[in-house]
Amino acid sequence: MSLLVIGSVAFDAIETPFGKTDKIIGGAATYITLSSSYLADQVQLVAVVGGDFPKEDIALLQSHGIDTQGLQIKENEKSFFWSGKYHNDMNSRDTLVTELNVLEHFDPIIPASYQNSSYVMLGNLSPDVQRTVIERMEIKPKLIAMDTMNFWMDIAKDALDKTIAMVDVLIINDEEARQLSGEYALVKAAQKIMAMGPQFLIIKKGEHGALLFDADSVYFCPALPLEEVFDPTGAGDTFAGGFIGYLASTDDISFDNMKRAVIYGSAMASFCVEKFGTERLVNLSDSEIHARVQQFIDLSQVQIKL
Ligand code: AMP
Repeated sequence: MSLLVIGSVAFDAIETPFGKTDKIIGGAATYITLSSSYLADQVQLVAVVGGDFPKEDIALLQSHGIDTQGLQIKENEKSFFWSGKYHNDMNSRDTLVTELNVLEHFDPIIPASYQNSSYVMLGNLSPDVQRTVIERMEIKPKLIAMDTMNFWMDIAKDALDKTIAMVDVLIINDEEARQLSGEYALVKAAQKIMAMGPQFLIIKKGEHGALLFDADSVYFCPALPLEEVFDPTGAGDTFAGGFIGYLASTDDISFDNMKRAVIYGSAMASFCVEKFGTERLVNLSDSEIHARVQQFIDLSQVQIKL
């Protein structure tokens, strides 16, 4: 099944205790499409970049089978730029710079060939733009998942609430879930957030795994204990790409299959953090992915006789 992805395609500058990068390729949709390209048959990108965005990087996305017909290039404008610095524990970071540039007036145009997409992943972007994409889909997709962040909760809460009400799955981190719901306890936060519209909610907890909720059940997937976390940038987006990519490839949106999708998302995210930026994500093999998923299965399996 085909998967439509929207989000930022950007330049990032990252600082972690292990080092610092100048402008490298990043952006939510970059991580989502790269991650899902290993799983879904057809990945279709809707995004915008400026004339400063390297053509080689667009070619790199294409070499992963990602359809870039929906990637607009505004020759006379600058690409979105984000810069962040991680604290020593790598679990928290400060955003140093957010320059919307080309994203400020982004009008997401959906190519006719994308209209049959059954799965849609709304990566981190202005909630108005995310909603426009939903409204422009002529056939209702089978499943719409959405990511967002505190930045939009701070500056566009009403628009965000409207978009959240239209999606099936919301994927956010624990801090964002607390801010969005006003509740500290995550189970209470989940109930409040699902009452806002989404039937399913995923709360990511970084190195402490991820929780998947629906109205009646909760599932927990641990994160792989890694020796070294180099750079967590894009891990959330890579998780989302693995999650929705797996659902699109299996075309099964039952809660049980979503549990498997959470494992795939967690496995893909565990690769992302091993190197800076997209470095680790761009040349994975199927056997590496299978071996990593197996590690997750081993990690969470236990036999108890009662
Ligand atoms: P994550 O580490 O999963 O939260 O994602 C980091 C990515 O999100 C970076 O590559 C940034 O370019 C992108 N990003 C950061 N802030 C924004 C924003 N306000 N809108 C869209 N994308 C963003």
